[in-house]
Amino acid sequence: MAEKAQKIVGVKGMNDLLPATSYQWLWLEDKLRVWLSQYGYENIRTPILENTQLFTRSIGEVTDIVEKEMYSFIDSLNGDALTLRPEGTAGTIRAVVEHNLLYNANQKLWYIGPMFRHERPQKGRYRQFHQLGVEALGFKGPDVDCEIILMLNHLWQILGLSGVELQINCLGNKDERLAHREALIAYFEQHQELLDEEAKRRLHTNPLRILDTKNPAMQELVGNAPKLLAYLGEQSQAHYTGWKAGLDALKIAYVENPRLVRGLDYYNLSVFEWVSSDLGSQSTVCGGGRYDPLVAELSGKENYAIGFAIGLERLLLSLEAQNKLIIKPACDIYIVNDGVGAAEMAFNLAQELRTLGYKVIQHLGGGSFKSQFKKADSYGARLSLVIGENEVKLNQVVLKLMAEQKQELIAHTQLSQYVTNFFNS
Ligand code: ATP
Ligand code: MG
Repeated sequence: MAEKAQKIVGVKGMNDLLPATSYQWLWLEDKLRVWLSQYGYENIRTPILENTQLFTRSIGEVTDIVEKEMYSFIDSLNGDALTLRPEGTAGTIRAVVEHNLLYNANQKLWYIGPMFRHERPQKGRYRQFHQLGVEALGFKGPDVDCEIILMLNHLWQILGLSGVELQINCLGNKDERLAHREALIAYFEQHQELLDEEAKRRLHTNPLRILDTKNPAMQELVGNAPKLLAYLGEQSQAHYTGWKAGLDALKIAYVENPRLVRGLDYYNLSVFEWVSSDLGSQSTVCGGGRYDPLVAELSGKENYAIGFAIGLERLLLSLEAQNKLIIKPACDIYIVNDGVGAAEMAFNLAQELRTLGYKVIQHLGGGSFKSQFKKADSYGARLSLVIGENEVKLNQVVLKLMAEQKQELIAHTQLSQYVTNFFNS
């Protein structure tokens, strides 16, 4: 006798999306596609694997992602150092540069797909999760910075999502951040005794990230730390002021959060996050900002870039909390059939009705009429067609209006018209 097979289960933190919820993903993705095309964005699809170097160079060595979250491995077949993408911006810019898409042109791009980060799985945080990413390339701003916020604000309206707060900040340019960084290091050095282990480690590598700490004991310390805004030069200030004036004119509410620094190294000037009140501690639904320096880093040429990513699991969780998800779409027509010739007639009718655009499920596998009607109910069908041997002989069907509990006998030749009238009324 064969040994009992050992059950193989999925990888921790990587979820199966089953039919019980996958229709919500399809619904959301449809909405997103229409919304993106309304703003002139085009789809780009890049591989899930990239050379590891792409991420270490673009995201930055001293970031959460590169330090401890990347799925990196050596391809045993040829020794290549590869990484499952932890985010989509780096790969997108890599592809744009590789295919020269910014030659005398701007680009407005979007993508949806899985991202991979080795984090501790919990509600709203997974090891494989999905992002919608949007990248607008070649636009100096701040007009595009305003449009990006406008379109996100519009998306929340389209989805009926409320309770998302917009937080904004300005990260200035590299020199301004350097001057601020020195002031920060000096400040934290004066208060060494108040720093936790992580902060001590970051003090000379990425002190800006200390401002992002979630440690309650350090909140007062970081609250009083020197603010980057005080180090902004004229140009950066003008960009920030222009962005805010644009948002004011559009009547979009925002909160200035000087501690908003974003996790990755490549950001400059405008950065923002949308935070949901329904998500507990994994509360950021969408994060983004300008990353002009990344394009130069990967292409050798100065250019402009701004983008954002929405965490789709978190977006769906907040929509669910607000009862804004669609209910599972039902089928229009279920075809109950039994007896000699019934299945053949059912196939023909089903095709006729599908050609008209209806969602038609034909009962397969036989069984009593009673059990077939149960199935029709479980699919939420509004109409059932019943075909038995008698119907085959007379070329007619029994049509059952499920909710109304009525039934009628219809000649095959009248069926299309009857069904069309029924669904249009
Ligand atoms: P967090 O501070 O929550 O770790 P992050 O700054 O690492 O977020 P980004 O890199 O800005 O996140 O990614 C954009 C969005 O992707 C986040 O706002 C969030 O909605 C989603 N996201 C990021 N990491 C995860 C994850 N591990 N699981 C699910 N969603 C995630
Ligand atoms: Mg993170």
